[in-house]
Amino acid sequence: MQLKTLVDAVAEVASTRSRTAKIELLASFLRQVEPEDLRTAIGLLVGKPPQGRLGVGARGLQAHRQRAADRPTLGLGDVGEAFDTLAEASGPGSTAVRASTLAGLMASATRSEQDHLARVILGDVRSGALEGILTDAVAAAAGQPKELVRRAAMLTGDLAETARRAMAGDDLQRIGLTPGVPVLPMLASTAATAAEAIAATGRSSVEHKLDGARLQVHRTGDEVWAYTRSLADITARVPEVVATVAAFPGGDLILDGETLTLDEDGSARPFQESMSRLSSHGGEGSLAVWFFDVLHAEGRTLIDEPLETRRAVLARIVGDRLIRGAETSVPGEAQRVLDDALAAGQEGIVVKSLDAPYAAGRRGNNWVKVKPVYTYDLVVLGIEWGSGRRAGTLSNIHLGARDPEGRFGEPGGFVMVGKTFKGMTDEILRWQTEHFAALETGRTEWGITVAPTTVVEIAIDGVQRSSRYPGGVALRFARVKRYRTGADEKAPAEADTIDTLRALLR
Ligand code: AMP
Repeated sequence: MQLKTLVDAVAEVASTRSRTAKIELLASFLRQVEPEDLRTAIGLLVGKPPQGRLGVGARGLQAHRQRAADRPTLGLGDVGEAFDTLAEASGPGSTAVRASTLAGLMASATRSEQDHLARVILGDVRSGALEGILTDAVAAAAGQPKELVRRAAMLTGDLAETARRAMAGDDLQRIGLTPGVPVLPMLASTAATAAEAIAATGRSSVEHKLDGARLQVHRTGDEVWAYTRSLADITARVPEVVATVAAFPGGDLILDGETLTLDEDGSARPFQESMSRLSSHGGEGSLAVWFFDVLHAEGRTLIDEPLETRRAVLARIVGDRLIRGAETSVPGEAQRVLDDALAAGQEGIVVKSLDAPYAAGRRGNNWVKVKPVYTYDLVVLGIEWGSGRRAGTLSNIHLGARDPEGRFGEPGGFVMVGKTFKGMTDEILRWQTEHFAALETGRTEWGITVAPTTVVEIAIDGVQRSSRYPGGVALRFARVKRYRTGADEKAPAEADTIDTLRALLR
């Protein structure tokens, strides 16, 4: 298939309002894609190259966009090959390989094709909403029930592979969990108090919320793998965890938990240190791990079982590596666990309905976190150049909240709610200067605007009404808690919404 056909389809979908009509358009498009192009097509539609990151920055790309082809000739196969080359280039000579591959690709693309390719390559596509629509379009194109296709996409974490199997007429019901194949983790919503959380979840497991990094650990036979929350394999960096899990009973396993670095006296170290232990250059301290869920054990997949059942299995398997907490439906009891967690230096609690299944990849009201400081995940939209001691660095970051419905701008866009240059160590400053320079989309008199792809966790004292920002709300005393990148990555589609912040005005 020609790339032009895809670009035209995307434009048509974008200018169509009704969700049903969008699904029909995408379904009829998908039916025309040859099976060997399906992976590339899905990647180009959702704005994520199937090869993962391509290692190309905005400036590197811009250099190859001086000229464009007058006629469309590129096929999806050509794009797939170029992406493969970009993703595989490494070591000496890789810069030249990247440059010539990009030059070739861009020179053969028309202006509108270049625009689309650039957005995908730079990760500048607002894909959250489109992924849901595309999943339903796959179901329609393949003539399979949409619930089944959604479930398969969630369990495999791979829409392209799901589409391939659905279109080939495979029985999607048979897709279960496979130890060794990571699945998207279940996510929590937020409540202000323990009582509010319990009101939503009823009979609950009220658990300490540890301030470490999420870890999904798999075991088949003697082999153990560990994955981050964005499903990157970090087995080689967590030998202590591998040794712990290798000794558990229970046969093939999939466990969900949190890892932290400990001091010699066994107390938890600050979060930043856990992150550096998990990064590629390594850090100090030894890792410990606590588990709060089990998805597969003792010969069966458990995600459709209630948490109560999963916890009983979990306790048999992990012993003293079970996260601390209590089972209760009494608000006062939940508050007691929260006090206990805070006294132990933990971040807060997660309150979980004992009746609920494991909803992989979804944020719902069956897991509710309660943290006494307000922290929010926001997206960086721009950065100002620093002055004085910070001259030459990119310092003051502009923060945006997600606006899925487009109440204050474009649907799926971000609304600015504040700025901050606080909470940044010298190392963070160095890192962000380099990181954001590569994401530049434009220059202004104060600094640069960037592709909205970086999530940062921000602590605030509250919010106030604002006539300056379009969402009518501004952060008070915002400071950086941490960037959600690397082992702890969060996607922009998971950032907090403008409505969540506006709710604090009340
Ligand atoms: P947040 O990152 O603020 O959305 O909070 C959810 C994260 O808290 C999860 O992804 C885990 O990394 C972490 N966490 C710590 N303790 C627990 C727990 N008991 N249950 C679930 N998540 C936990």
